[in-house]
Amino acid sequence: MPPAADLLAWYDHNRRRMPWRALPGENPDPYRVWLSEIMLQQTTVTSVIPYFERFVERFPTVQALAGAEEGAVMAAWAGLGYYARARNLHACARAIDAQGGQFPHTVEALRALPGIGPYTANAVAAIAFGVPVVPVDGNVERVAARIFAIETPLPAAKPALAQAAASLNHEAAAQSRASDFCQALFDLGATICTPRPACGLCPWSAHCRARRAGIAEQLPRRTAKPARPVRHGALFCLQDEAGQILLRRRPPHGLLGGMTELPGTAWRDAPFGADEATQAAPMQAAWRQAGRVRHVFTHFELFLDVYAATVPTIDADGFLRPATRLAGEALPSVMRKCLEIARQPAAHSVPRARPR
Ligand code: SF4
Repeated sequence: MPPAADLLAWYDHNRRRMPWRALPGENPDPYRVWLSEIMLQQTTVTSVIPYFERFVERFPTVQALAGAEEGAVMAAWAGLGYYARARNLHACARAIDAQGGQFPHTVEALRALPGIGPYTANAVAAIAFGVPVVPVDGNVERVAARIFAIETPLPAAKPALAQAAASLNHEAAAQSRASDFCQALFDLGATICTPRPACGLCPWSAHCRARRAGIAEQLPRRTAKPARPVRHGALFCLQDEAGQILLRRRPPHGLLGGMTELPGTAWRDAPFGADEATQAAPMQAAWRQAGRVRHVFTHFELFLDVYAATVPTIDADGFLRPATRLAGEALPSVMRKCLEIARQPAAHSVPRARPR
């Protein structure tokens, strides 16, 4: 078993500085720890940092977040994707506020809150409150697979990797510095034990079975995923002569739930022809095909044909916003890409759907 003390000594000299992390000698702020862990799901540290900084400036405490309008929370989250996270985040802040404003300290009580699953409960408990548990994300799975040379492919290997990762903090050193140990594992996976590991710099290299066997780069193995299905839709950017754009709000639940969007067709397996698409437009107008946007969601790839038109006045379902003041709208990245294309005058190359 690799010694926790070696990893902790490495961490003391190499820890990453991040805006949600406590500095040595400081107490971690559970609100910042929780918020960062929710933001970091499916998103990289580099992408999260500016969102995190803006978010805590806008909502500096869990109470401030609990008291905010949902639209303001969604707008602050816009661009981070996986919008159910933002709705759950808001619901969780309200639940904590209703319980007196303090985060619970145990894994079990954290798990009872909205949007907190096993990983986040372990991460908040370990980092914020020093509970000796190991949250298992992709980085930690990679480290565990290599240290113990676990060759079963993912996802079948998940239970074995979780068990192996949990065993890493069996020592008193790890348990008495549970917060640092957990963050040290994250940092080892993110900076040294990366897909192409720098084993020469690793504090655990003498204890790593995969390195000894010469198979570190091959682990963790993965079962090949089936290709993502492709879906198609058409979107309409309708502007009036006063420079206002027609928008609508998506239903509160489901993909991009509660977010703002351009009006458009439903999404389906087959592409839309121009005639069929413009028949579904919110108004008759001289529609021009501005381009095509490709966006990859977790479970499918979406191609959106973007149409643009300007009319004297808009008479259609939805609401109007000045084109110059869209920054505060809860527009997800895919809609911002569509708006950008629609509002450029020149023709664009159209990305092609890969053959199916
Ligand atoms: S020795 Fe290499 S493969 Fe093993 S844990 Fe360290 S960096 Fe990862």
